[in-house]
Amino acid sequence: MYTAIGYAAQSATTPLAPMSFQRRSPRADDVAIEILYCGVCHSDIHQARNEWGIAVYPLMPGHEIVGKVTAVGANVSKHKVGDLVGVGCMVDSCRHCEACTANLEQYCLEGPTMTYATPDRVDGSNTMGGYSDSIVVSEHFVVRIPEKLDLASAAPILCAGITTYSPLKHYGVKAGDKVGILGMGGLGHMGIKFAKALGAEVTLFTRSASKAEEARRQGADHVIVSTDAAQMQSVAGHFDFLLDTIPVPHDLNPYLDTLRFDGVHILVGLIEPVDPALHAGKLVMSRRVLAGSLIGGIAETQEVLDFCAEHGITCDIEMLDIRQINKAYERMIKGDVKYRFVIDMATLKV
Ligand SMILES: [Zn+2]
Ligand SMILES: [Zn+2]
Repeated sequence: MYTAIGYAAQSATTPLAPMSFQRRSPRADDVAIEILYCGVCHSDIHQARNEWGIAVYPLMPGHEIVGKVTAVGANVSKHKVGDLVGVGCMVDSCRHCEACTANLEQYCLEGPTMTYATPDRVDGSNTMGGYSDSIVVSEHFVVRIPEKLDLASAAPILCAGITTYSPLKHYGVKAGDKVGILGMGGLGHMGIKFAKALGAEVTLFTRSASKAEEARRQGADHVIVSTDAAQMQSVAGHFDFLLDTIPVPHDLNPYLDTLRFDGVHILVGLIEPVDPALHAGKLVMSRRVLAGSLIGGIAETQEVLDFCAEHGITCDIEMLDIRQINKAYERMIKGDVKYRFVIDMATLKV
């Protein structure tokens, strides 16, 4: 064991504050990582404030981690000291179930071990995330950061990136497909970039016309203001896929109307009941599919990093001093960030 430092919430109602805690020494299959950057995800806020009812305190968020390997266990073969590596939303899983053996650790039938606020599978300790100077993770859950990528803007690929890339690949988005992206936050702006890189014609749905120019700068071909009934009507039956990144309950019915028959509406942001209710006829009458997708497996997380390096895709970020983390949360709740805060971990040591 050794002493690490980081920012954690001690309860659902207290702001994040510095704390010292114990990290394990590397086990035989572990990689020890000095954290250089960590993205700030909306899930971090939900968990710090126990808005999903599953928080464990102290809660140290952070699952978009980029850093440098400082030590490896005796059996580690994938990474070596000095390598630039990343850790996303998961740090372990059962590794033998049907999902794990299919490289879909996020759907582990025994439940994956998340990067924070989950009991470690070996010693039962509460996992502590990336708002920290270091982390120790089993090598299977550590990915390589391609040389071409900027380290700080690569961090959000580990959650926002893989969450949007995985469903576009899984559901088979290809050149010429018409793809609608719902919402343009951390996830949505990455969704636009990936859909474009896959050759699709991309439309952003947004509530505010003011985002149109920015959406085009991100690569969207068209913009539809979702609150404008005439604009929504103009794309009735138009899309092959909708990638829905909206993280709060919203009316799916008007969006389903914009899908062609056999079209697929993919939810990646919402994990609450659909409200208002879904009219099943909008699925049945046109054989449309309502689907969901959670992050991506470890092999696919490596794939998306390599894809980003190949296509020159990075996340748009605002660098954050960790001492401003609580203010950053307030700005994120207001949608006041383009598009991801990334903590410069050097600010933890000043
Ligand atoms: Zn996340
Ligand atoms: Zn499993």
